[in-house]
This record gives sequence, structure tokens and C-alpha cells, in this order.
Amino acid sequence: MLSVGITGGIGSGKTTVCKLFALLRVPVYNADEAAKILMQQDKMLIKKIKKLFGNDIYSEDNSLNRRQLAAIVFSDKSALEALEKVVHPAVMKHSEKWVKNQKTPYVLKESALLFESGSFKEMDKIIMVYASEYVRIKRVQKRDGSTTEEIKARIAKQLPDAYKISRSDFLVNNDGRLLLIPQVLDIHKQLLIDAENR
Ligand code: ATP
Repeated sequence: MLSVGITGGIGSGKTTVCKLFALLRVPVYNADEAAKILMQQDKMLIKKIKKLFGNDIYSEDNSLNRRQLAAIVFSDKSALEALEKVVHPAVMKHSEKWVKNQKTPYVLKESALLFESGSFKEMDKIIMVYASEYVRIKRVQKRDGSTTEEIKARIAKQLPDAYKISRSDFLVNNDGRLLLIPQVLDIHKQLLIDAENR
């Protein structure tokens, strides 16, 4: 079975593209969602996060104080790196278990930070979803009402698109000029061939 990573900048359309693959019955693992759940449920991980940021980062009912954690890691790069260093292995372990339960020729792993986290190294193939910064800002604003400045600050924390594109095997153009379904079908066909020839 092939492990295929799918990434792209904020608002590029990763989730939208993954929904199309899911219609083709391709199992999709969302690393960002899994990280959120594990930070709330994985006892070993919770212990490590408390050790890094103090017990108060979880409230008495054991729910993670996301706002407090975001405030810390957004302004302190070393804190973000320390957090990623404990979260990433927990997600890897969880996703490996998940992969073992799948029976399809390939699976997709969706992650906004596939390259930044280093997990691209564990992928057999990589799909990059691209949309221009202008389009992404407009879409995210429409989705959650963030300001242009907030979105630009988040974009600035991600690696440049050109870097990601040069290291990807497939590119989905989601700028609104090309239809998504034919692009997804072409990639799906090629991945089935790749999985067969492995
Ligand atoms: P994030 O990393 O921020 O979670 P994402 O890459 O997963 O974003 P989506 O959530 O799929 O991106 O898309 C961002 C927004 O843009 C959503 O509201 C989605 O409905 C919209 N969108 C995505 N693709 C298109 C498209 N081709 N045409 C119009 N709207 C789109």
C-alpha cells in the first residue's frame, strides 16, 4: 500500500480535494485533526505537554486550553518546536496504526505542515494543492472571517509554495481556473498504477 501525503498552504483547498478522493473510496487521514484529538486523549502525550507548558495548560476537566497554548507557541519559535517534537511522534504512531487497518492500494494523509514537520520523508508520493495567495486569503476570509493580516501572518509561518511544489509528485491547481474533478481522476489513475507496480 502506498502512503500519499497531501499538503498545501492555508485555504489552498486540501480538505476540498480530499473529499473528492474520499468519493473514490480512498481512505483519508487528517494529521491536523488527529493531532488535536491526540492532544486531548493520548495520556502519554498529555503528560509531555504538561511537562513542557505546566499543568495549567489543561483545565480541571482535562480539556486543553488551546487559546493559551496558541498564544505561547505563536510568539515563541522554540516553544512551537518543542510542542511539535512531542506531537509529531504521537501522530506518526497513530497514523501507522490507522494505515494497517486500511485495505486499499493507497491511502491519503492530509497535513498542512507535511514539509515543515518532516513527515514528507515517510510518504511514497506527495500531492500539493495550489492556489494563489490572493485566492487563499479571499477563501479563508469568507470561511472564518479572519483579517488579511492574520491570514498573511499564518502564511508567513509556512514554507514557500515553490519549495513545496518542487518536492511534490503531483500538483492540483485549485485557483478556480481548472476543474478539480478531472485533475483528481488523473492523479487517482496514476496512483493506482504506481501502487500496482510497486
Ligand atoms: P486549511 O489548511 O486552512 O484548513 P484547506 O487547504 O483544507 O484549508 P479548504 O478548507 O478545502 O482548504 O478550502 C478553504 C475554503 O475555500 C473552504 O471554505 C472551501 O469551501 C473553499 N474552496 C476550496 N476550493 C474551492 C474552489 N475550487 N472554489 C471555491 N471555493 C473553494
